[in-house]
Amino acid sequence: MTRRRGKKSKKTAHVMNPVNSESPPSQFVADEVDDELKKAKQELEAVQHKLDFQKLCNFTLANDHQKALTILELDKKLIEKQSEINSLTHQLDVEKLVSSRAKIQQDTQDLMLKLKILEDEEDQEAALKMEQETTESLRKRSNQLKEALKSNLKIKPWKDCQLCFQEFAINVDMVPRLLQCGHTICSACLRKLMKPTYTKCPFDGAVWRSSTTETVDDFPKNYKVFDM
Ligand SMILES: [Zn+2]
Ligand SMILES: [Zn+2]
Repeated sequence: MTRRRGKKSKKTAHVMNPVNSESPPSQFVADEVDDELKKAKQELEAVQHKLDFQKLCNFTLANDHQKALTILELDKKLIEKQSEINSLTHQLDVEKLVSSRAKIQQDTQDLMLKLKILEDEEDQEAALKMEQETTESLRKRSNQLKEALKSNLKIKPWKDCQLCFQEFAINVDMVPRLLQCGHTICSACLRKLMKPTYTKCPFDGAVWRSSTTETVDDFPKNYKVFDM
């Protein structure tokens, strides 16, 4: 520094060589320039320092800005998630409502069906008719068994409809029909059993809903009875 300063002073002194008598002495000029240079250097340093500080501030600001952006992004994601959860919860509630409504409807239908069956069974006339029919078929069956015993025939009850005790056949009325519960009865008996909205198995009391358009032909044929 000292060396450079000395050199500079010399050079300045040479440049600023006085041309007239009013000019200040060369050493004075050199010192003045040196001071200005020092000041300028200081100012530069100050500016540099300020700039560095500003850079640091900017960096911090940028950093803060980035942080703020990240926070905003996270907030956005959080809100999206929350809204997704809300939507799902809502959907779940709706599904629950729909399913409970369906359950209530199902229960109501079941109750109405039970009520209908009770009403039908309370129908004295119908009950009496059914009883008479059963008595008649039992009488027939009794006669059949007597005949079978007399002629030493093998009795195969599965070959007969267990409601009317007539032998299954492929003719329209005696076609064996399989019920949903697994029992098999003839088409004629099934036709009598079928109510407009339901069918009830006479052997185990199983009930299943049927549409008004359903006929005996909608029940599967059970020709297995012929092979046994
Ligand atoms: Zn029958
Ligand atoms: Zn049954």
